[in-house]
Amino acid sequence: MATYRHDVLIIGSGAAGLTTALRLPDECQVALLSKGELTSASTYYAQGGVAAVLDQQDSLESHVADTHVAGAGLCRDEAVRFTVENGPDAIRWLIDLGVDFTRFEGGDDGTLPYHLTREGGHSHRRIIHAADATGKAISSTLIGQVKQKQNVTLFEHRVAVDLILQEHHGQRRCCGAYIHNIRTGETDVVLARSVVLATGGASKVYLYTSNPDVATGDGIAMAWRAGCRVANMEFMQFHPTCLYHPKAKSFLITEAIRGEGGHLLLPNGERFMHRFDERGELAPRDVVARAIDHEMKRLGADCLYLDISHKPADFIIEHFPTVYAKCLQLGLDITRDPIPVVPAAHYTCGGVVINEHGETDVPGLYAIGETSFTGLHGANRMASNSLLECFVYGKAAADNIARHLAELPEPRDDAEWDESQVTDSDEDVVISHNWDELRRFMWDYVGIVRTEKRLERALHRAELLKKEIGEYYSNYHISNDLLELRNLVVIAELIIRSAMSRKESRGLHFMRDFPDSVDNPKDTVLTPGTF
Ligand SMILES: Cc1cc2nc3c(=O)[nH]c(=O)nc-3n(C[C@H](O)[C@H](O)[C@H](O)COP(=O)(O)OP(=O)(O)OC[C@H]3O[C@@H](n4cnc5c(N)ncnc54)[C@H](O)[C@@H]3O)c2cc1C
Repeated sequence: MATYRHDVLIIGSGAAGLTTALRLPDECQVALLSKGELTSASTYYAQGGVAAVLDQQDSLESHVADTHVAGAGLCRDEAVRFTVENGPDAIRWLIDLGVDFTRFEGGDDGTLPYHLTREGGHSHRRIIHAADATGKAISSTLIGQVKQKQNVTLFEHRVAVDLILQEHHGQRRCCGAYIHNIRTGETDVVLARSVVLATGGASKVYLYTSNPDVATGDGIAMAWRAGCRVANMEFMQFHPTCLYHPKAKSFLITEAIRGEGGHLLLPNGERFMHRFDERGELAPRDVVARAIDHEMKRLGADCLYLDISHKPADFIIEHFPTVYAKCLQLGLDITRDPIPVVPAAHYTCGGVVINEHGETDVPGLYAIGETSFTGLHGANRMASNSLLECFVYGKAAADNIARHLAELPEPRDDAEWDESQVTDSDEDVVISHNWDELRRFMWDYVGIVRTEKRLERALHRAELLKKEIGEYYSNYHISNDLLELRNLVVIAELIIRSAMSRKESRGLHFMRDFPDSVDNPKDTVLTPGTF
């Protein structure tokens, strides 16, 4: 077992982790971890872009108002204003670092020469983007920059297992983490005066997701075990159309296909959206996702279909080159065949409760990006606000750490990873079986449409699995699959308990037993040790 010592440990190499690393001063020694390659993060897969007020026709007030409307009465105004007001500076920072956003031809009115698109919920053009691969452009630039920093040590294929807590001057502080090397199987200690969780969301808790494999809610689970409050976990956003194919993992079918006249079809070829909303296929994301889920459950169907084949082939290939190419690779010609689709878990609106500096309830521990709960998204995230949140809070956390670092205690050297009581398991099937079971019952009982009965069933199963996985974790050597499963079962319980305590329907949380919204809604804040 090796022990490493740094000033700051950042867990995660997405937009949140990279921003924090780049915003810290050069004299600060930083360790930055990623579970896989540095690009193994949702950030890399973001398509649409980043929302910010960059056009003279637009205003901060309008961005604030749109965010509140999308959040269905639960956004925290301070968080919304803080994010929106710092948005333009965050974009300028990205441009200065070299992110190659799509440019706007012509125009000389003092605004930035970049093309802005409009997305659902935004009443102005305010999405800056790099074609339809914004995340890739941002990741590549930030990773390129961080690799040049002498003060940042990069650790790939390392998974943080748990946080290290120590008493210093009567205060329980976070002083590092146990880190498992996925390649060698060894577990090391990284000590640091401040630790930043930038581990992304938890959408892998569902059977179908648009997220990469790393999105297992590790940061939320670790923070919960360390004593941090977690809020609003019932608000999981589902994207209505993800490709359903045994060989296609997590591939989104863009909403623009519906925008350009695509039809949603039942397995018998019948259209159905008009039965749910007069806007048909053009209804908002959550309405379409609920309708697809309803029809799949009613018919016991594995998937439904999205069909654009009635449009000319040239039009389809020109407008949707990425979807066309990906489907063709899998033997599906979308100019002739309907595309099999299912809704998929896409974004975690809740997370670890933080303040405007990114600080959690545990001194020394910060949480940034999708893993955190700032109050920005309320009951439903507005498109492209999530990346913005990473850049704004990443800077806020870095500034706060830099201000206080000199006065923080040096961690003690007494943390050790003890493997003396564990052996190799000859029953790894338990892990793969429990992974499948967990993700399937979450999909069936805690998905897009919920009922009290379904939630009770799910809680019962989650509690059984938690016990079984806990015993397994205590007796056998750890692996990445086991660590992720141990975290996912915590996430499942947090989502179920949050959903059970919200006796209304609001934003992304739809309860068939309580279809209406209450007056004066509150955040669902769960505190460790209370159940
Ligand atoms: C397909 C897709 C399209 C999207 N499009 C947009 C968009 O257009 N605009 C927008 O604003 N948002 C979009 N989003 C959402 C947005 O991409 C994410 O919310 C955002 O990128 C989250 O950034 P993050 O840094 O918090 O987490 P991530 O980018 O997910 O990074 C998490 C990091 O933590 C690491 N990690 C996790 N657990 C551990 C552990 N235990 N130990 C070590 N490392 C760990 C991972 O390896 C990864 O490096 C999209 C998401 C997806 C999936």
